[in-house]
Amino acid sequence: MNKEVSALVRPIKDAKSILLTGHVSPDGDNLGSMLALKLMVEQLGKKVTIVIDDSIPDCFSFLAGIDEIKEYEADLTVDVDLTIVVDSSNLERIARVEELIKEEPIINIDHHSDNNSFGDYNLVADVAATVELIYALQEKMEEVELTFEIATALATGLITDTGSFRYSNTSSMTHQIMAELLNYGVDPSLIAKEVLETNSYQNLILRGKVLQNLQVDTTGKIAWLKVSQEMLEEIGADLEDTTGLVNYPRTLKGAEVGILFKEIEQEEIRVGLRSNNYLQVNQVAHLFDGGGHPRAAGCTINLKLDEAEEQLINAVKEQLAKDKSKPSEGRD
Ligand code: AMP
Ligand code: MN
Ligand code: MN
Repeated sequence: MNKEVSALVRPIKDAKSILLTGHVSPDGDNLGSMLALKLMVEQLGKKVTIVIDDSIPDCFSFLAGIDEIKEYEADLTVDVDLTIVVDSSNLERIARVEELIKEEPIINIDHHSDNNSFGDYNLVADVAATVELIYALQEKMEEVELTFEIATALATGLITDTGSFRYSNTSSMTHQIMAELLNYGVDPSLIAKEVLETNSYQNLILRGKVLQNLQVDTTGKIAWLKVSQEMLEEIGADLEDTTGLVNYPRTLKGAEVGILFKEIEQEEIRVGLRSNNYLQVNQVAHLFDGGGHPRAAGCTINLKLDEAEEQLINAVKEQLAKDKSKPSEGRD
């Protein structure tokens, strides 16, 4: 990995103006990676534009530079000589931001095992969060100093992608980096409060309603939740209020896999998958053109809610039959 990290230093130093982007449905790792990188390369005098084809959840508003992130618009133009894409397995994950990329080289920094090496430079490694790779890059750029703001952005990615250091992707390196970030004044309790422990009223009410309808298959190994547009309307909630729901079903005692179905539109169902010990949920997500990690993955299915549910649960059952005979493998 050392070599791949070092290989990024030259193209970054040679660039004058950089486009930074990451996947839709932005999360703490994606945003933390982009904002830390922005603050780092600004120290080198680079002009940086961050564009995402999505809105930014309010819970990240404490991160330095978050207000400068632009949401993609059709008439947006950027004049850059380098594009850096973070936390995304392929260019489809950045949606319409791909249209902004012209002839300039692309740097791809990611930790998904299904990353297709779309960049001219690819830093892809099996680490808990993309921010671990941004941290490694900072160490290689002697002129760049770690600051409180950069450290806070990096720590946010570590905390969110590891479920506060509880998921199986957490390594000793993850903890070592976090320990170093604490030396820069990072306040993990504040990050946890902002991102994980503050819920809108609608989120809590929705959670109650959705959990009441928890579904479980006959074996007890598959548990799932559904959020329909009707439920959201009834409560006056929106999609942002579904945050955190995906983590509940797999906590059911005896369950191996937990799933959340979200009706975005009538025939657009976003699916989040999580597993506990052995089921490779990214294999299921791939069947529906999605992706992710062995223990956390997602996809979008263009069918009605009940049809999407039936097809996906069947695919999970088939994957369960394949994976249960294998020893536990893979990390988040
Ligand atoms: P989520 O359930 O949205 O938190 O996503 C869990 C993991 O799956 C993350 O690593 C995502 O990057 C990945 N993922 C989610 N949706 C998709 C998708 N449609 N295509 C590829 N990867 C996805
Ligand atoms: Mn992500
Ligand atoms: Mn990530």
